[in-house]
Amino acid sequence: MVKDTIKIFCRVKPTKGKLAIYDVEEKEDADIISFNLPKESVEWMVNNKKENYKFQFQSAFDQKTRQDDIFEHVAQPVIDNVLQGYNGTIFAYGQTGSGKTYTMTGGAERYADRGIIPRTLSYIFDYYSKNPDSVYATSVSYLEIYNENGYDLLDPKHEATKLEDLPKVSLHEDSEQNIHLKNLALYPAASEEDALNLLFVGDTNRMIAETPMNQASTRSHCIFTIHLTVREAGSATVRRAKLHLVDLAGSERVSKTGVNGQLLTEAKYINLSLHYLEQVIVALSEAGRTHIPYRNSMMTSVLRDSLGGNCMTTMIATISIEKKNIDESISTCRFAQRVAMIKNDAILNEELDPKLMIQKLKREIQQLKDQISMTNGDQSTLDLSNEEISECEKLVCEFLQDNNPESMIDVGADLRKVHECFRIIKRKFNEKASVRSITPASSDVSTIREKEDNFNSNEFGRIKDLLQQRDNEINILVNMLKKEKKRVKNATSELKKAGIQPPPTPKQDSTFDSQNGFYSDSTPPSTTQSDNFSQKAVGPIKMKKQDETRQKKILNEMSIGRQEAFDTFRREYKLNHVLEQHKAELKSLYSQAKELGNEVNTSRQQINALKSKLERERVRVAMTDDQDSLEEEIKCNLDSAKTSYKERFNLLKHLKAEIEHTQHLLDSSKMKLLKDFEIWWAEQAALNQRKQEDSDLIQRNSRKVDSSYDNLGKTGWSTPHKVEKSTVPADIPLTGDPQADADIIAFMEARRKALSRQGKR
Ligand code: ADP
Ligand code: MG
Repeated sequence: MVKDTIKIFCRVKPTKGKLAIYDVEEKEDADIISFNLPKESVEWMVNNKKENYKFQFQSAFDQKTRQDDIFEHVAQPVIDNVLQGYNGTIFAYGQTGSGKTYTMTGGAERYADRGIIPRTLSYIFDYYSKNPDSVYATSVSYLEIYNENGYDLLDPKHEATKLEDLPKVSLHEDSEQNIHLKNLALYPAASEEDALNLLFVGDTNRMIAETPMNQASTRSHCIFTIHLTVREAGSATVRRAKLHLVDLAGSERVSKTGVNGQLLTEAKYINLSLHYLEQVIVALSEAGRTHIPYRNSMMTSVLRDSLGGNCMTTMIATISIEKKNIDESISTCRFAQRVAMIKNDAILNEELDPKLMIQKLKREIQQLKDQISMTNGDQSTLDLSNEEISECEKLVCEFLQDNNPESMIDVGADLRKVHECFRIIKRKFNEKASVRSITPASSDVSTIREKEDNFNSNEFGRIKDLLQQRDNEINILVNMLKKEKKRVKNATSELKKAGIQPPPTPKQDSTFDSQNGFYSDSTPPSTTQSDNFSQKAVGPIKMKKQDETRQKKILNEMSIGRQEAFDTFRREYKLNHVLEQHKAELKSLYSQAKELGNEVNTSRQQINALKSKLERERVRVAMTDDQDSLEEEIKCNLDSAKTSYKERFNLLKHLKAEIEHTQHLLDSSKMKLLKDFEIWWAEQAALNQRKQEDSDLIQRNSRKVDSSYDNLGKTGWSTPHKVEKSTVPADIPLTGDPQADADIIAFMEARRKALSRQGKR
């Protein structure tokens, strides 16, 4: 058991705003962050007591700290323990806008801005590949708690429904007081790619569920959980661990947000659940408290182990040091100090799996029986039958193809079969060696060849296809751009010929918007399907495709007028540079990948050529008995070609992850563009409606006014039947009140007419 207090870290968000006076002081085993609030400068808060506030953290990261540093210092120690079988939790706490999501998930602009969650997934799968002697299983879940209700962010139904319409995740406590979550699915992730896709799907769903009204991302808590199972090959002991990565709702207080209506309900709930979190933390930090109120809210129930239980927990307090935010930052730091007093008892979650134990014991019994029968000498001396030989052959083949470190050839206690299996293995080895002309002495080269073979058939083929696909995409894009330019040029010269001034920004009627990479056609060319990087990860990929389909569906469902509005909106869109940046990055990444792919190919060809050369040299030496062999030199060249091949191959793998990530950032930006357009469209519609209503009212009122002036008309005044908007001189100040304005306009009109009559006389 490891008894340890919750570790607390502080991260200061970079800011260009007006700074408060603060300082980060690095000490040997802790950092101190201090705020100085001279009384006279404090306008935004009541500060009658203190001028100087000091808070101690494990580490305090100042504005310039990069994401990889945060990962290394905050997350890595927790993950290392999780991989050993301890539960872990990392949670971000701070006011809205202080950088919680940036720290946990990452920024939307660059690959280097990836946050703790994607980095954790990469780290875990990298660990697996470096430690192949154990058997691993990984699955993830993504829970969002909004207004005290839980929702599964990975639920495929997310596509069509609002957050509130989804089945709610509910809590159940078993007789041993373990919490179970109903309706929250665990998705297995066989590779880093699968896991990252699941994260992307969840984040996209989180974004889609957000509306201007519910701004769920600041008002909800999100818990991304990674479940791990680790077992050493041959062992029946399983280690299970959970890692919660938590992005809490904004910690700001209601009084400051000044909310009402629905927002009040939300604020009340966020504050309620953060309030209950505080209560739990206060209760835990006070000595002698026996009752801890975990059950008061869903979040504290889910995180019960993380707070004072079986878990290694770390908190990262995110703060903003802009003057106007300093009171919230102090309150965040104060909360962290309380959290640091909580002791957790992390237990190694190790258990014997009875099924595996039974299997293991059965195997042992069989082995002992085999040993007895061998020592008793009850061995048959008859030749093996043909069936028995083919059975041995089959077992050897299965064994050679199985990557599981636990696999064995089980032929029982029959020495004849054991020897037959050895014979088959030898034959197969020699066959392979002769096919590739490799002598047993160069077994190293043979391993490389096998690896290469695997690479050739799987990874390389896939990446090559993908590059081809990207090339096609880029070509299509460039062609469309050219066509579009030509079209615009022609149209402009036609207009000029006809003496008409062309519009400043021509509207595109192509099915493809070359600016933003959107299709407005229901059947985009198949070469542009950009998400099939992995054929393996069927589930997550399917979900990702759904996102793409969803985007296209939204565009297709737009009326022509709305599409025109969308085009205009898109041209002026404030985040166009982000979209452009992602696209430029993707393009450059693809061309880098292409180049690397070519280099990998060249290295492979070099290796092949050197292998043939080596073989020829060996034959030559054998035949001529020449002592001056070039073998060593060729081997040396082969080694360096091998190294360069490996280096490039690894780079290509890394690039692939970067391409995936950037593609997701681009997809998210497109989704944001659509959402922002929807908001803008709704605002425009509301504005138009209001204008229409106002003008109707003005006309109605002016008619009333007209009829009252009709009486004047009878006395010789001619009054207008209708007050036209255009007849209102621009210098007449209107009040904005429709009734009053109608009266003013009617009066001015009457006055104008009266004056012109007088003038005529
Ligand atoms: P929160 O989740 O706490 O509400 P966000 O993580 O969404 O806050 O951050 C608000 C904005 O500030 C985002 O645009 C984010 O990219 C940016 N931001 C936050 N922290 C950092 C940082 N350390 N470096 C650069 N940008 C940051
Ligand atoms: Mg956030």
